[in-house]
Amino acid sequence: MHKSSCPICGDKLVGRADKKYCSDQCRYMANNKNKFVAEQPILELNKILRRNRSILKKLCPSGKAIVRREVMDAMGYDTNVFASIFMTSSKEVYYICYDYAFTPIMEQLVEKAVIVQRQHYMRSWNPWKFIKKTHP
Ligand SMILES: [Zn+2]
Repeated sequence: MHKSSCPICGDKLVGRADKKYCSDQCRYMANNKNKFVAEQPILELNKILRRNRSILKKLCPSGKAIVRREVMDAMGYDTNVFASIFMTSSKEVYYICYDYAFTPIMEQLVEKAVIVQRQHYMRSWNPWKFIKKTHP
């Protein structure tokens, strides 16, 4: 005998002491709810990535484009969210968003972005190349 109730519908739980839900239906609903909650941070980031990608695509329909940072900002570009990064041999960092990428530049004290289509060589990112400190 136990006194607890089903966390989904509130019905009293009868039967095995380790029973968590009153019915298969409530267990199913609970699992879906947990899945939904767990997926939220992923969905939220995907939404931002998609928006970023669509902004880059609009600003750079083909080849290469240079735009002012304020244009990207005004369109709602979120620079905190990117899919991966790439650093050129001259240490320019490209922030990659699906099939597009941009690198920040400064031209006559104006912050701008060079936007390009993601290049094949940008797929070879090795984070271990940049280790500065070796832990014992
Ligand atoms: Zn229930």
